[in-house]
Amino acid sequence: MSVSPRPHGLSKSRITYFEQCPKRLWLSVHRPELAEDDEGAEARFAAGHEVGAAACSLLPGGIMVEAEPDLSAALATTKALLESGHEDPIFEATFQHDGVLVRVDILEPNGLGGWHMAEVKSSTKPKDYHANDLATQVWVAREAGVRIDSAAIRHLDSDFVLKPEGSLEGLFFDSELTSNIQDRVETRAAVVAAARETLAGTEPNILPGSHCNGLPCNFAAYCEAALPPGPECPVTLLPYGGGNRWLQRGVEDLFDVDPSGLTNPTHQRVFQATLTGKPDHNVEGARAAMADWAFPRTWLDFETIAFAIPRWVGTRPYQQVPFQFSAHIEAEDGSLEHHEFLSLDGADPRRACAEALVTKIPRSGAVVAYNAGFEKGRLRELSEFFPDLADDLNSIIERVVDLLPVTRANWYHRDQRGSWSIKAVLPTVAPELDYSELEVKDGGNAQAAYLEAISPETTAARRAALDTALRAYCGRDTEAMIVLAKHLCQNGDGD
Ligand code: SF4
Repeated sequence: MSVSPRPHGLSKSRITYFEQCPKRLWLSVHRPELAEDDEGAEARFAAGHEVGAAACSLLPGGIMVEAEPDLSAALATTKALLESGHEDPIFEATFQHDGVLVRVDILEPNGLGGWHMAEVKSSTKPKDYHANDLATQVWVAREAGVRIDSAAIRHLDSDFVLKPEGSLEGLFFDSELTSNIQDRVETRAAVVAAARETLAGTEPNILPGSHCNGLPCNFAAYCEAALPPGPECPVTLLPYGGGNRWLQRGVEDLFDVDPSGLTNPTHQRVFQATLTGKPDHNVEGARAAMADWAFPRTWLDFETIAFAIPRWVGTRPYQQVPFQFSAHIEAEDGSLEHHEFLSLDGADPRRACAEALVTKIPRSGAVVAYNAGFEKGRLRELSEFFPDLADDLNSIIERVVDLLPVTRANWYHRDQRGSWSIKAVLPTVAPELDYSELEVKDGGNAQAAYLEAISPETTAARRAALDTALRAYCGRDTEAMIVLAKHLCQNGDGD
């Protein structure tokens, strides 16, 4: 048996690309060098591999179809297994039809002479494109002569909680799509023919649009470079989707907006600040909003890690577990004390984190966070998991206040470009507190640094360097909040 010699062999991923955007398929085959490097690809691949292995581990007796020395061997092994009346799960069963080759994550015998097909995903629910993916596999397997009675996306169950015995039983949930995808299965032959026609032609003339968003596309830079330059300040800078209704009327440039049509006060502020270049700053409003934030004020920020497969007892898939915090404590006279917590030993950081929080955060005074729902959520989880610390943690939760809405209501600089994230606001009030000179520059970097630090392959020297970089980053976040709050309450922006 050999893999089809037909030109433009198609895999399920290539068909998925085609259904998202024919140009993406064409570029991925004919101009792959135009794809941008996908920095997160390696980590995503590793996470996906870990989830796939976990799904297989829950099916003892299953047999893996190896693709060694090549896919022809995988096709032959699969055929032999099915013809021999194999009655256990098969992992990576490989089929080919009409030049389309698929490797099916899991095939399980259903005891009725047919098979259940499961496509394993590391998400916590199925996405629309998963259904097409599954339909392609069902179509190929059925056309290859296999009786597929049911098919599902096997994704992580967000309600799963890791128990002390460490069993992953119940980690996955099958979203059965058998009846829902039948219509899609019937379209496969036509979809494959159309994909092949696209590949045989010249580069499709497709402009970027909403179709680019569902699945991140690594040809975005190439496609966007071909667009005529847009306005420097597009209407899409209006927050909360405020630009959409202007776009529908054909208005793309914020400077072309008729201000009498702006009914949302935030849109009016963004418009005015952008038009005039003068920051929108309500000093009195900011002072009033913070007036009852009692001293000592604790400026608090967490860094968290989230594993697809829970590592620590009592955690769920993708639960944000704090491994670090920075707390600047500000007395009424303006003096500051800094406390921090960082766990890089790879063990469950929650107990030590919770103890550090209740020890270091004063028992009175406001606890200030930026977008405080996140910090409150982590504190609540710690409080629920450690009942002996619940009173102290709940006391912290009760005192949490949020600097984000105060900033949003009382400050806008046109360089924020429609965002009030602290990374967007900070350069407009304290450009000297730049993150660019830091090794860890954002939350994504912090998570990557944590994973590198806990890896057994990381040297002690490198771990020490990561420790320093993480402390510098998290400390900068709480320092930035203090500087921002001061700026909001002071006159002197030329306003
Ligand atoms: S960026 Fe958009 S238009 Fe360009 S190939 Fe990707 S999906 Fe298609």
